Amino acid sequence: MFNKKRSLSLSKRKQMKRDILLNEISRDGGRCDVLVIGGGATGLGIAVDAASRGYRVVLLEQSDFAKGTSSRSTKLVHGGVRYLAQGDLRLVTGALRERGLMRRNAPHLVRNMRFIIGNYRWWEQPFYTIGLTFYDLLAGSLGLGRSLPLLKSTVMREIPGLKQRGLRGGVVYHDGQFDDARMAVTLAQTAADHGAVCLNYVKVDGLTRDDKGLVNGVKATDQLTGRPYGLLARVVINATGVFIDDILRMDDPAAKPKVRPSQGVHLVVDSKFLGGNSALMIPKTRDGRVLFGVPWHGKVVLGTTDTPIDKPELEPRALEEEVAFILEQAGEYLDRQPSRQDVLSVFAGLRPLAAPTGPGRKKTKEISRNHKIYKSASGLLTITGGKWTTYREMAEEVIDEAIRSGRLERRKCVTRGLKLHGYTGNRDDSSWNYVYGSDAAKIEALVRENPGNGTLLHKDYPFHVAHVLWAIREEQAQTVEDVLARRLRMLVLDARAAIEMAPRVASILAGELGKDNDWEKQQLLDFNSQAKGYLLNGVV
Ligand SMILES: Cc1cc2nc3c(=O)[nH]c(=O)nc-3n(C[C@H](O)[C@H](O)[C@H](O)COP(=O)(O)OP(=O)(O)OC[C@H]3O[C@@H](n4cnc5c(N)ncnc54)[C@H](O)[C@@H]3O)c2cc1C
Repeated sequence: MFNKKRSLSLSKRKQMKRDILLNEISRDGGRCDVLVIGGGATGLGIAVDAASRGYRVVLLEQSDFAKGTSSRSTKLVHGGVRYLAQGDLRLVTGALRERGLMRRNAPHLVRNMRFIIGNYRWWEQPFYTIGLTFYDLLAGSLGLGRSLPLLKSTVMREIPGLKQRGLRGGVVYHDGQFDDARMAVTLAQTAADHGAVCLNYVKVDGLTRDDKGLVNGVKATDQLTGRPYGLLARVVINATGVFIDDILRMDDPAAKPKVRPSQGVHLVVDSKFLGGNSALMIPKTRDGRVLFGVPWHGKVVLGTTDTPIDKPELEPRALEEEVAFILEQAGEYLDRQPSRQDVLSVFAGLRPLAAPTGPGRKKTKEISRNHKIYKSASGLLTITGGKWTTYREMAEEVIDEAIRSGRLERRKCVTRGLKLHGYTGNRDDSSWNYVYGSDAAKIEALVRENPGNGTLLHKDYPFHVAHVLWAIREEQAQTVEDVLARRLRMLVLDARAAIEMAPRVASILAGELGKDNDWEKQQLLDFNSQAKGYLLNGVV
């Protein structure tokens, strides 16, 4: 273990500037207490936990923050009604507690949403009302509102697009909803506020060891410049989602696989398909899963599926049968069946499910969504499984584990009550700017300083030049994709409109980052080729 006095000298800061942070990690051998590999929900949650306990933290993400699974979720902050039906009370109770804490600590990003289950058979209303009342009871004082039976007329008022034929009534319950990629950026900013260095586009390509053979750091490469880095850490945590086995094999080439990736696909359609502000929950699809139709940033997100995948990809693609399944199942419940032409964007994500250790090969939908922590003989800690909703609890447990292993001195977790970056109690959903919380005022100031910054990027959407400047200057956006997929969410809201906005975004990026015309052209080629994968007919 190295001398703590020589550790990376990180002051508390309120910024995420990539070049300044890269300089910081190249000084003094890049020594830190906790080195986190992976900038998704899990890794960023760990960075927040460790930094807020006062440890010196570096987080390295090979691509952009939340490029992996963490920008491709159903966007629910939930206990998991489905897991209640499966009898997994421990998972549901823990997730309900985390749901409440997440809403309490980031009310600007997590909203309370009404979910409606339409009832078509006589027994469904009492059955779901009883089950969901139990769900409410498990949430205790952190509940979001009571589940109640609804008259048919109320169901139709809340979801005018629901099929009326045979509808007898319904049940409403409450869960949280959020913007996953925006939450990831918020976590990176929160970690930075507490002194952590969180860097995107730095890939870990090897582990280093001390003379006892224990992992004491990483070798990494800046993906934008090719510059190599060596960093020393008292504890290294592998939080790379579906890629954890790659890191585990860097530690031990014979390591057994610990993750079972399972793909889930979502289709985004116009809000007219639901027609209201409440979400639709279909409790049992043909394959025995639940299907959601959730209003999100003025559109509706339909999904999802559960398809086992052998080889993890950073940019997974929806399978034809997954798309057909969602369209068909949604069509059974909606007045107007969405067709392929109605799909504004299709996106796929891979659940990093913790591989079960028991006999037999379970279907992925049967694998528990609980998380697991693995301790390697070398001291490397690996964490997988879980949900976005449980990121805080996962982080607390893995840092506690590092303390138990003697690698960190004992310090108490403070994240239960830790307000996230941008916290504000005054959420105004009427404009996109609510996602920035208290930072929204700074974006509005950019427009006041220079009215040109108020120019819209697209006539149909509320994003303007100032949003792009903010993403580049304050949120480490490096590429057109970073801006349009994860800072402004356009790629998943409307892929065709995102392609139309791309030239303007590329030009702003080139100006801000000092890049030439060739770079700008290449950005456009890269983005358009990626965006085609989000269009069902693939034609740009
Ligand atoms: C379809 C779907 C729907 C879901 N819906 C919900 C939901 O509604 N609510 C909910 O609570 N949960 C949901 N989840 C679960 C949730 O999204 C995941 O549990 C969570 O996002 C996993 O985060 P992660 O950080 O472990 O993985 P990831 O987000 O994949 O992050 C891992 C990161 O590690 C990086 N990485 C990999 N290798 C390296 C390396 N060598 N060096 C540096 N970085 C590296 C990757 O680039 C990646 O960004 C859903 C999941 C899916 C797939």
